[in-house]
Amino acid sequence: MAKRVRTVLGDIPPEELGLTLPHEHLFTFPPVEVSPDLDLRLDSYENALQEVESFKAVGGGAIAEVSTPGYGRDVRSIKKISRATGVHIICATGFIKESYFPREFFNLTEAELTEKFICDVEEGIEDTGIRAGVIKIGASQNKFSEAEKKAARAACKAHLETGAPITTHTTGGTMVLNIIELLESEGVNLNNVVIGHLDNNTLYLGYILMIAQTGVYVQLDNIGKVKYYPDELRVEIVKQLIEEGYGARILLSGDQGRRSYLKSYGGCPGFEHLQKGFIPLMRKKGIAEDSIRQITVENPSNIFAF
Ligand SMILES: [Zn+2]
Repeated sequence: MAKRVRTVLGDIPPEELGLTLPHEHLFTFPPVEVSPDLDLRLDSYENALQEVESFKAVGGGAIAEVSTPGYGRDVRSIKKISRATGVHIICATGFIKESYFPREFFNLTEAELTEKFICDVEEGIEDTGIRAGVIKIGASQNKFSEAEKKAARAACKAHLETGAPITTHTTGGTMVLNIIELLESEGVNLNNVVIGHLDNNTLYLGYILMIAQTGVYVQLDNIGKVKYYPDELRVEIVKQLIEEGYGARILLSGDQGRRSYLKSYGGCPGFEHLQKGFIPLMRKKGIAEDSIRQITVENPSNIFAF
């Protein structure tokens, strides 16, 4: 059967995605006892709608909204926004890192977690009938805890059963090789895996090349966040990865999980930044149009299709 991308409105052919942001947040609500910071709470439907509309207005086609249970995932609202805007949205199952694991996580065995992930992908999340199109795993800063490994092993088994791709939260770009080792030991083909957050602490060509060489997708998903690195350096790394032959392994997104990143809340860069800021900079630095298209359209459609 031909591969499809599983969106909140149903399965679609991958070529319908168009320009895609593979790691974003529309609704978040981290546990108050872990993160009391209001900035991390995205709870306005109107603002989320405005961001997605602004993305569409500059040619955006699809978004992966990778908020997880325990972190404010709201698939009903996401579906409403997708229907209102016509932008394809992929939602996630899985978990982030241990400090954000909801209490119920610790009551579940690995087999029960696997079942839950499979159910989210194949049947639907809770009683919504909305199906997840990607499975998220994560690790802490410089630590891949036993609980995180349990979640990751369950995600691998659910991936092998369903085909849904795996996306990762790394904290500050650390523990990547440990995560990859676990995925490999579970029999996952690394072409179905995205390693995220490689540009907020570890934006080094040698490190990212070493990761890309394993076969995973390398995701620079903090574009526009100058507090970590200037976009000029991100573009330079992208350019060198292309020159080294890894153009088919690069993904770009904004991971804008804070009010201060979103124009609708008065922040920046907002959901238009890829098209309005980053792609023009790629052009200016000499990256060819077909590479830009490969990275922003074809690579997302390849990784999200199963
Ligand atoms: Zn994120």
